[in-house]
Amino acid sequence: MILLTRKAEFSAAHYYWNNAWSEEQNERIFGKCANRNGHGHNYTLEVTVAGEVDPITGFVVDLKLLKEILEREVVGVYDHRHLNLEIPDFATVIPTTENIAVAVWRRLDGKIPNARLHRVRVYEMPDLFADFYGEFGEEASQ
Ligand SMILES: [Zn+2]
Repeated sequence: MILLTRKAEFSAAHYYWNNAWSEEQNERIFGKCANRNGHGHNYTLEVTVAGEVDPITGFVVDLKLLKEILEREVVGVYDHRHLNLEIPDFATVIPTTENIAVAVWRRLDGKIPNARLHRVRVYEMPDLFADFYGEFGEEASQ
């Protein structure tokens, strides 16, 4: 088994807001991120797949195909969008780095031929990233 990682980038806007809370509580917990006009990030995505090296091609997966899948399923959907307002993935969850990693996993899982999704890493900034390995908690798996 070998791990192979492909990077992709997208730019998107978001804000942090919990509808169950008062405006004061949202501002206290989320600070400037609670500004509902939103703000943007240049996100970097790293998608790692696990599989066996094909003895004929030397590949785990066709890299061109992997790039196309990332483009179709994630980058083309999220890029230059307001995640809270335009992307159904975040209709009921706050588009934090953590939740974006989970949403990207859901979009890609089962879509990559001959390989299994191993890790989704999302960088919101160069010094902040979240990793998801497909282990859903009770609540999220429903
Ligand atoms: Zn932000």
